[in-house]
Amino acid sequence: MKFFRLLIKLKKIIIYMIILVIIIKCGSIVFQNKTEETVAKQEENLPVAYKEFDYGDYTTIRLLHTDTGEVEELPLDVYLYGVVSAEMPASYEEEALKAQAIVARTYTIYKIMNGSNHQEQNADICDSSACCQAWISKENRLARWEEGSRESNWLKIENAVNSTIGEVILYDGQPIDAFFHSNSGGSTEIPENVWGGSFPYLQSVETAGEDAYTSYASEVQVSKDELIQKMLSKYSTFEINFDEPNPIQILEYTDSR
Ligand SMILES: [Zn+2]
Repeated sequence: MKFFRLLIKLKKIIIYMIILVIIIKCGSIVFQNKTEETVAKQEENLPVAYKEFDYGDYTTIRLLHTDTGEVEELPLDVYLYGVVSAEMPASYEEEALKAQAIVARTYTIYKIMNGSNHQEQNADICDSSACCQAWISKENRLARWEEGSRESNWLKIENAVNSTIGEVILYDGQPIDAFFHSNSGGSTEIPENVWGGSFPYLQSVETAGEDAYTSYASEVQVSKDELIQKMLSKYSTFEINFDEPNPIQILEYTDSR
């Protein structure tokens, strides 16, 4: 009798164990499918991705020096050393410098592919941040760094560019018009609201933590006359009476406020 009871108990235990194994197995299959589904969904939703892009036709650029008017031909990545070191301090994190290198490369290739501002001067891009993007020669860059940090700073810049060779930001398989800024004041604005045009890959995003850095807020003072002239240049029927109370009011904000 005892033997039979033991056998029944053992049978029960074995059945429980089989059920437990089935539950665990099913659970892991469901979990695995869910993970794959989530990753696929995330990738599908990414409007912009860092991908390899064959920019073999654009490995040399013609750089216009705005101070002398001279045009210099440079290998693209050598040109990018001068851009990254002019646009971002070498003391910044390596990953930030790499991101800057990818954005600068993308911006440069986009300019060459879509028509430069300097076709008349026979150049692809100029060295002014106010017009295209900043660039500084290696000689001038090194001279502005303290002697002890020159070599390590330059190596850091070269590494940011060299370790991202082949990487550009694409949308629909084409390089984007990759604008960049130092501080967006808490959130970026949709370019359509500033310049018009269409930039589906540049949406407004919040950028927390920027209040700790320079250029978070800015103030511009213009005289009444200057204001009138600026408004008239854009809206020929513009009128304003400064004697009225509150002649200037904010009626509307964009979503990135
Ligand atoms: Zn330019």
